Amino acid sequence: MQIKVFQFNPVGVNTYILWDKTEKNGAVIDSGCSSEAEFKTLFSFIECEGIKVEHLLITHPHFDHIYGANGSMQRFGLPLQLHEKAVPLMDEAVRTAQVFGFQFGDTPAADKLKTFKEGDTVKIGNFTLEILYTPGHCEGSVSFVERSTRTVFTGDVLFRDSIGRTDFPTGDYELLKSGIYNKLFTLDEPDCSMSGLPSYTVRPGHGGRTTIEYERYHNPFL
Ligand SMILES: [Zn+2]
Repeated sequence: MQIKVFQFNPVGVNTYILWDKTEKNGAVIDSGCSSEAEFKTLFSFIECEGIKVEHLLITHPHFDHIYGANGSMQRFGLPLQLHEKAVPLMDEAVRTAQVFGFQFGDTPAADKLKTFKEGDTVKIGNFTLEILYTPGHCEGSVSFVERSTRTVFTGDVLFRDSIGRTDFPTGDYELLKSGIYNKLFTLDEPDCSMSGLPSYTVRPGHGGRTTIEYERYHNPFL
């Protein structure tokens, strides 16, 4: 799995492009483009690399993570894939954006959405993303696990030295923590360091990458 990350929109969301190096099948997680220039950056990269985008995914339906959804859906002729419990929050995302003073177009139309749930998988060329349901930052918030490269995309659940805020609608601190402890921290085998396996790399929705092992011992919020 190849990974490229761009930071888009005024909130600085991480937009991830994943692809299979050989066959070039690809996916975009959290297309956050908020301007023509940002769309150009994303689409030019995909074109230059010859990536065939087959899946548009979001970790959760907050506006910074769906800013570029409509534009990307149109460009690639694809539905937006999201957790089934994320669907009712899409309209809320637009209202929140407006409260923060951001220009935001329409939310993706209901008939252009494709839902997934815990345990579902998304096959992209020679690798697979597995859906972990990790609510608490908001309902319908997921993490995508890629086991062959020991990578997890956590959206706004877990960051380097931080965790997602829980003061937005449907936020729940206890739920967030339980997802981190029971679903993310358990990705590493208990004897991970002894077995010589590297800790899972965490690719969050904002900020730089980290590892499960680092957060287990250093995250001040856990
Ligand atoms: Zn975010």
